Amino acid sequence: MNLAINIQRLQRDLEELGRIGSDLKGGVSRPSFSQADLEARAWLKKRLHEASLEIREDGAGNIFGRLRGKLEEPVILVGSHLDTVINGGRFDGTCGVVSALECLRTIQEKGIVPYYPLEVVAFTDEEGNIIGDFLGSRAFTGTLNEEILRRGQTNFGQPLQNILEGTGISLESILRAKNEAPKVLAYLELHIEQGELLDLEAVPIGLVTKITGKRLYQATFSGQVSHAGTTPMELRRDAFIGLAELAVRATRLVAAEDEDGRLTIGRVQLHPGSFSSIPGQADFTLDLRHPERENLIDLEKKIIGLAQEIAITRGLSFYYQLVDSTEPTPMSSRLLALLEEEVRNLNYPYLKLISGAGHDAQILAKITEAAMIFIPSINGLSHSPEEAIRWEDLEKGANLLLQVLVRLATSF
Ligand SMILES: [Zn+2]
Repeated sequence: MNLAINIQRLQRDLEELGRIGSDLKGGVSRPSFSQADLEARAWLKKRLHEASLEIREDGAGNIFGRLRGKLEEPVILVGSHLDTVINGGRFDGTCGVVSALECLRTIQEKGIVPYYPLEVVAFTDEEGNIIGDFLGSRAFTGTLNEEILRRGQTNFGQPLQNILEGTGISLESILRAKNEAPKVLAYLELHIEQGELLDLEAVPIGLVTKITGKRLYQATFSGQVSHAGTTPMELRRDAFIGLAELAVRATRLVAAEDEDGRLTIGRVQLHPGSFSSIPGQADFTLDLRHPERENLIDLEKKIIGLAQEIAITRGLSFYYQLVDSTEPTPMSSRLLALLEEEVRNLNYPYLKLISGAGHDAQILAKITEAAMIFIPSINGLSHSPEEAIRWEDLEKGANLLLQVLVRLATSF
């Protein structure tokens, strides 16, 4: 049987979805539960309904569209997320959700009756705009940090309760979502690479072997606020200079240590933050990643040690708190082998690679076999209005997804 998705229909859907939440800077701003996100959710449900898929929404707002199988359970999940970062792009997450929908439509149209039910899924707040990363998939798998959730502080400065108001979703319903979850046989996710490896090599398909681990810290150097004109240079306890030294030395350290390590100081706040005052306090975030757990722990020790050493020599104090972490997560070797077999059957060039970005697949891997297909991000750009793909790459990615779904859903 000639089994292939309809790329025109898939493209039309993605273009339509990409217009929801488009912002003045040419990108898309669609954080979970924003007006635009609610509109995107309604759009997806309409499409699922038109495809005669059974719609379900759990307590965390995760949306599912089921194609029935001969069995009720376990289900094969396939999807990604609809939310975006502020001023993000049109393809991060959406490619996976819409490709999943297109695959299920194709399976239905070809009259294939799966043995296991197949479900499209769109997970809530993958981007962590609201409260840490992966709110929806963590709720679904029962791996939420309840304490952080109950604290209710969000990245938008308003309490979680206010953001959830009128959505029918509450803290309690989010915590209950895991009880509504069916047994899962496998999770598959198609996603843009968000890096430049595939584009540089001109290869349309990436098979993810592993998702990198991450430690996210909120940290502070604390010194002494004093007058910029009267305090001699050698007597200053300038918290910013401590941070500046750390930024340069820690970056060098990670770069020299090994090529898979990543360190980013993405947010900095100086206090009091005026022209004529020496900063007495520097608050900043540290985002540290590595695909190997031992190396991640080793880098973590070295960087914290370096910060403490800088604090001592500069008369500062250094504090830090771990606010979020994910472990390096290998993808299912069985699914990877299946993907490799099918990608060869299709004759598509492919590469195996490690994902430096986090994905719902690493959360799902806690409860089931998970795997990911990457397609190239043009120039490696993502989380940006310039995020772009080639339709022929997406077509290949979705066709590979389709083959693997059919194999999984029809074999006992
Ligand atoms: Zn994404």
